[in-house]
This record gives sequence, structure tokens and C-alpha cells, in this order.
Amino acid sequence: MKLVLIGAPAAGKGTQARKLIEKYHLAYISTGDMLREEVAKGTELGLKVKSIMASGSLVSDDLIIAIVKERIKADDCKNGFILDGFPRTVVQAEKLDELIGSVDTTIYIKCPDDVLLKRITARQTCPKCGATYNKISVPSKVAGICDVCGTKLVQRKDDTIEAGKARLATFHQQSEPLVAYYKAQGKLFEVDGLMGLDNITKAIFARLGE
Ligand SMILES: [Zn+2]
Repeated sequence: MKLVLIGAPAAGKGTQARKLIEKYHLAYISTGDMLREEVAKGTELGLKVKSIMASGSLVSDDLIIAIVKERIKADDCKNGFILDGFPRTVVQAEKLDELIGSVDTTIYIKCPDDVLLKRITARQTCPKCGATYNKISVPSKVAGICDVCGTKLVQRKDDTIEAGKARLATFHQQSEPLVAYYKAQGKLFEVDGLMGLDNITKAIFARLGE
């Protein structure tokens, strides 16, 4: 099963990805995480990526495709995989199709911007242990204090209203052509991101089958 997951920040992609991995034994492939890992490990690729990012440029489609091409050869991909954060553009989607034939389903968790903004700005993280909370959906036991280590929680810079709005604008600009691309292929499954985590999971499982 070859899946692509599309959703704005705070749409609940991570939660649904975990459910999908559990049920269908898929590999989870986040190109963003992979790039960060390579940079952290200081591999040849990581150094290359670091210098590209330092120059303010984006990592090229060819480089990302090369990374995905290698990744999907790994053993854990034998039942299939979920791609998160890739493809980001129609050009990348076309290259992905060249690589794997075509995806089976692209799941788009759709959510109105005002709801997403509320969720984004409700996020809190612990500066000491890295635990994450959400004032609306996953509150800490004591407001503003980390359950794990008792440290005062903070809001990340990109979780403010202004930064959140900018991230959502970027998401729409990039994803709308992508959504249209998969829709035209008949591969798009759009799910209402407001119906609750469990109902979203049920809807996705119903679409993908046993
Ligand atoms: Zn903590």
C-alpha cells in the first residue's frame, strides 16, 4: 500500500499516520525528519543539505527524490509506506509517479484555517524535556506546567498567530495544486478533519479496506 498524507499544520496527520502504521504495517516516511537526521548525524548527504539550507535555498526535487528512492528500498517498506511532507509540489508528485508507478491513495485531512490556527496557538512545549501539549486537545495536568518534569511550558515561535497564518498560507499555496493533481488521477480521499480523531480513522480505514 503506497499512501501520501496531506494536511495543514495541526490537522492531525501524525495521529492518523500512527493508526495507519499499526493497522497496515507500513513504513512511515517523513522527508523532513530524514533530512534533519542526516544533518544531525553529519553524513555526506547531511552536510550537503546543511549547506543548501544555510544558503537559504530549498533542497532540490532531484535530491529529495533520490532520498525517497533509497528509503523505499528498505526492508520495512515491503508492506508499503506512508509519505508525509512529500511530495510537496506537482513536479515532485510527477517524479514520484515515475518512481513507484502511482500512489494507491492520497489522504487529505481537510480543516478550516480558523480551527487550525486555534489548535496551533494552543500548542505548548516543555523547554527542558521536549514534551508537547495542547491546551485544547492534550492539556497538561496543571495548566502551564510540564507533567513529566514540572518545568514551565512555553510556546514555540512558529506556533504564534502570525507564524501560524504564514504557515497555513504556504500550505494552501503548495498543496492545492497537489490536491487537484491527485483528484484528477482519482486517487484523492478527502476526509473532514473536524469529525474527531476516531471518526477520521474509521473513515480512512473504510476507504482503504482490510
Ligand atoms: Zn518537561
